[in-house]
Amino acid sequence: MSYGDVKTDIRRMFLASGACRVGFAAAGPVDAVTRERYDRWIAEGKHAGMTYLDRYDDVRSDPRLLLDGAQTVICCAFDYRQTVRHSLFADYALGEDYHDAIRRRLTSAAAELCGKYGGETRICVDTAPIRERYWSARAGLGVIGLNGLLIVDGIGSKVFLAEILWTATVEPDQSRLGESCMKCGACIKACPGHALCGDMTVDAARCNSYLTIEHRGELPDGLRLDGRIYGCDICQDVCPHNRTAGSEAVEEFRPSEELMRLDIEAVRNMDADTYRSVFRHSAVRRAKLPQLLRNAARHK
Ligand code: SF4
Ligand code: SF4
Repeated sequence: MSYGDVKTDIRRMFLASGACRVGFAAAGPVDAVTRERYDRWIAEGKHAGMTYLDRYDDVRSDPRLLLDGAQTVICCAFDYRQTVRHSLFADYALGEDYHDAIRRRLTSAAAELCGKYGGETRICVDTAPIRERYWSARAGLGVIGLNGLLIVDGIGSKVFLAEILWTATVEPDQSRLGESCMKCGACIKACPGHALCGDMTVDAARCNSYLTIEHRGELPDGLRLDGRIYGCDICQDVCPHNRTAGSEAVEEFRPSEELMRLDIEAVRNMDADTYRSVFRHSAVRRAKLPQLLRNAARHK
C-alpha cells in the first residue's frame, strides 16, 4: 500500500466512526504565536475561574508529553448541528454527553488503526490539556474564527473536536492556521456580554456560556438571561459560516425527548432526583443542580 493509500484508509476508519472531517498533523511543539496569545490570555485572567487552564503548560505546548513516542495528531470533527432547538439549552447539550459518545466511537476506530498499522494511541475528547482548535486547524479541518471557534467548510462551528495521538507517522495535511473566517464582526457585535476580544479569544468572565456552565457562586449583579440558561450559541448563530442546515448526523447527539420537554418552570421546580434522571447521560451535568437553579432564577 502506498503512503497515500494508508492515509486514505485511516481517514476512512475515522469517518466511519461518525466524524465529518479527519485530518493529520505532525506532533510537536505548538507555534510561538499561539503560545504567546494563550499566555497573554491567562496573564490577563480571561480564563476566569477555569484555573485548570493555567496548569500543565508544558503538556499543552507539546502533545508528545501526553503519549510517549507520539508522532501524529489525528484530528476529528463531529457534526452536532440540530434540526430543532431548545430555548433554554445550547445545541451541543441536547443529546448524549459528547465525551462518552465520541470516546466510545473513537475507541473502536483506534483499535482498528493499531490492529492494522501498529503503534499506540491516546484519545483526547476535551479532557486532556491539548490545544484542540490549534491542532484541528493545523491538521486542515478548518479555520479559527473571531468567535474563537473552529469553523469547518460547509458545516460551520457546531462541531465537537477530538484528537487521537498516534506513535506512527503519516504525511501531515495542509495546515490552515494562517487562514481566517470572513471577519464580518457579527459575532463581536451580537455577543451580549461583549466577551469577544477580537483576537480569536473570549473573556470568559463576560461570556454567558462560561457563566452558566462553568462558573460556581453567584452570577454577576444585573445579569439577566433572556434566552439560554445553559450555554449561549449567539456568536455561532449569527456567523455566516453557520448558515447550513441542521444535520443530526450522529445518532447520540439527537435531542433527548425528556430534555426537550423541559420549560423554565420545570427547571425552576427541579429536584435532585429529577435532575439525575433527566441529565443522567447529558453534558448538562457539567452545571450542578444549584447552578442550574441559580441560572433559572435569572431568566427573564
Ligand atoms: S457564547 Fe454568547 S456570551 Fe459567550 S462569547 Fe459567544 S455570544 Fe458571547
Ligand atoms: S461571525 Fe463573522 S467575524 Fe465572527 S466568526 Fe463568523 S465570520 Fe468570523
